[in-house]
Amino acid sequence: MKDIDFDKLKKEVEAELQSIKTQEEIENFRLKYFSRKSGVLNDILKSIKGLSIEKKKEYGKFANQLKIYIENEIEIKKESLKMEHIKNLEEEEKIDITAPGKKVFSGHIHPLTHIIRKSVDIFESMGFEVASGPEVETEFYNFDALNIPASHPSRDMQDTFWLDPKTVGPGFLMRTQTSSVQVRYMEKNNPPFRIVCPGRVFRKEATDATHEMQFYQIECLVVAKDMSLVHLKSVLELFFKKLLENEKIKVRFRPSYFPFVEPGVEVDVICFKCLGKGCPLCKKTGWIEIGGAGMVHPKVLDSAKIDTSEFKGFAFGMGIERVAMIKYGVGDVRLFYNTDMRMLKQF
Ligand SMILES: [Zn+2]
Repeated sequence: MKDIDFDKLKKEVEAELQSIKTQEEIENFRLKYFSRKSGVLNDILKSIKGLSIEKKKEYGKFANQLKIYIENEIEIKKESLKMEHIKNLEEEEKIDITAPGKKVFSGHIHPLTHIIRKSVDIFESMGFEVASGPEVETEFYNFDALNIPASHPSRDMQDTFWLDPKTVGPGFLMRTQTSSVQVRYMEKNNPPFRIVCPGRVFRKEATDATHEMQFYQIECLVVAKDMSLVHLKSVLELFFKKLLENEKIKVRFRPSYFPFVEPGVEVDVICFKCLGKGCPLCKKTGWIEIGGAGMVHPKVLDSAKIDTSEFKGFAFGMGIERVAMIKYGVGDVRLFYNTDMRMLKQF
């Protein structure tokens, strides 16, 4: 047998220990020296069996010293790796309490939703109750009950989204106005009442800067004894003062025609930018057209079985998008629906 160079062996062990970086490598290192089957130290002990007693003693002593040395070094290495791991964790999970806070992006409600909620709040403060109805309507509630003649162009295929009669049956459509809600409410409730109906309506028309195929309307209806245009005007004036947040707002009526009212009026509000002097917003007229209104047509009350000798009603309706465009100075209605954050962040 060759002489065993214990000094050289110790140097190899030292070099190996230096390169160990993980607990797994330590375990492999331990097996390399202490494994019963193929461990280096076991091999040495096996190989010295046939030697003289003196050599056995000498080699046995060295082998034992080396064994103790390696065992100690393994423990030291394990401990130092553990400490290193903890130190790394501290570094990774460190919280810098002096670092500037991360900015949290908070959204807000859509400008159209804002106008709807604000309008409803104002009407509720005047004692109105919120009423709603289906967006898929029947021809009766959308047209007949509202005194819209069978020949009226709005019933045309070009203007209304009619649903496929083969699928849902005849006479169903996407409502073109929220007035259908008024009819449904009048059928089920006895006057006097005051209601406000916000909701989506649908028109089959080409979209452009001022037209969308779907948009929001809000309508109000009052049915009570002795109602007149004076009541209508005072309610609207108060409503627009609060909605446009301007105490100087005035309302004017211009005669107009809508099948479901008689008389019917166009509703203008005084331009809130120039207060009547004339500016680009009001196209130098001093007034802004904002909706339609009138005294509820007796035929509409009749169709809801309301006694027209005792009760009268007034109604008003406006497009939410139009109000939002005027109030916020938005030039194209389509901007409200295209989810462009550059636009929405401005509100
Ligand atoms: Zn103006």
